[in-house]
Amino acid sequence: MALEYMRDEMLRQIKAQLGSEAQVAAYHSAWNDAILNSGKPLPCPSCYMKGDIRRLKPISEEHGIAVVRCEHCRETFEFDSPEIR
Ligand SMILES: [Zn+2]
Repeated sequence: MALEYMRDEMLRQIKAQLGSEAQVAAYHSAWNDAILNSGKPLPCPSCYMKGDIRRLKPISEEHGIAVVRCEHCRETFEFDSPEIR
């Protein structure tokens, strides 16, 4: 899964939910924290905007599109995931 693409889409989601610059930055640092600490969840942007850190789980990856779902609110998110050659 192309994590940079996933990160960019999740940051876009925070902005789309009217996240402030500070919220975008805080989400980004929670994301980086999760990347560096493999036990931490990659945070769901919708739950994050409600003050919760909830895990996004991979659902599928086909034809260059990956889908993840929040294990708490069940929202799904899609993003490009170019095949690595
Ligand atoms: Zn969620």
